[in-house]
Amino acid sequence: MRNAKAYSVATPTSPLTPTAIPRREPTPHDVEIEILFCGVCHSDLHQARNEWSDLPTAYPCVPGHEIVGRVTRLGTAVAKHKVGDLVGVGCVVDSDGTCPECQGHHEQFCPNGVFTYNSPDKHTGKVTYGGYSESIVVNERFALRVPANLDPAGVAPLLCAGITTWSPLRRQGVTQGKKVGVVGLGGLGHMGVKFARAMGAHVVVFTTSPAKTEDALRLGAHEVVVSRDAAQMKKHTGSFDMILDTVSAVHDLTAYLNLLRREGNLTLVGVPDKPHAVPALALHFGNKSISGSMIGGMQATQEMLDFCGQHGITADVEVIPIQKINEAYERLLKADVKYRFSIDMASLRGQ
Ligand code: NAP
Ligand code: ZN
Repeated sequence: MRNAKAYSVATPTSPLTPTAIPRREPTPHDVEIEILFCGVCHSDLHQARNEWSDLPTAYPCVPGHEIVGRVTRLGTAVAKHKVGDLVGVGCVVDSDGTCPECQGHHEQFCPNGVFTYNSPDKHTGKVTYGGYSESIVVNERFALRVPANLDPAGVAPLLCAGITTWSPLRRQGVTQGKKVGVVGLGGLGHMGVKFARAMGAHVVVFTTSPAKTEDALRLGAHEVVVSRDAAQMKKHTGSFDMILDTVSAVHDLTAYLNLLRREGNLTLVGVPDKPHAVPALALHFGNKSISGSMIGGMQATQEMLDFCGQHGITADVEVIPIQKINEAYERLLKADVKYRFSIDMASLRGQ
């Protein structure tokens, strides 16, 4: 074991503070990674504050699952990476590799999967610690190639916000000629806009923040609707093939179901602390569907990263030193992020 500097949270109401955590020596199929940047996902905040009753938080918790770094050491059997490679790690760091989910490239659903943080750690017998840290050790299958032409600070958020929006857009067959809505212009939402636009769709952003209108257009939206304005909403009735809802809090789904065309789909990716009400009639009328979607498997994540390399897509990031993480959380709660915080881990190394 080696000690690594990190930031952890001790209780649902405490701030993140500096700490040291153990990182294992690479086993034969492990890579050790020096973390350069780690994105700040709203899920980090939900879990740091123990907001998900279905997934209680084990304390101390080191969040962070949008990791970009350089490979520093290799296990004896690693074939996929070399020392010095730029790699990304997302929400999953291990899986059994043999179950039907793994065989079908859905490692995130493996019954023996291991999440990057707040998951039982079979190596230490404790819990996994995430990317708010100077280094991490993961199985080589979960370290993905990062295209060399992209800015690493803006790549980090692709590992969660990117794949989480990419997967449902792909699954719903978004392409030229489709009309796609994206609800909530935060970390996930702004990636959804970039991807839906790059896939050729007509993209409409729904926001509660009128001040984000110009940014939404710059990010790729064709139109912006202030969702609290009923008249603006009504203009789009029955017209969307798909709406991707990234909102982190409970809100009314009927308004969005009414905007779908017949057989249209509303995909929810937000994970609010309380359940949404399902409006049965709005769902039935027009044979509409509501789906969920959780991150993506390794193959899809690599495909998304390669697509980003080809199209020059990264997240729009506000790079922060780790010492500003508690302030960043408060700003996330106010929907005040343009459009993802990315922690520069040099600030932790120098501390
Ligand atoms: P974020 O950056 O905080 O963005 C959320 C956006 O939702 C805000 O910027 C805001 O956009 C809108 N919003 C917030 N509160 C709202 C409210 N009360 N009513 C209406 N709109 C509201 O969060 P994120 O990192 O993108 O994550 C979004 C959600 O996805 C979180 O719940 C997170 O845990 C979840 N998530 C799920 C997965 C998955 O695999 N399914 C993966 C990652 C994250 P406007 O200002 O434009 O209204
Ligand atoms: Zn996330």
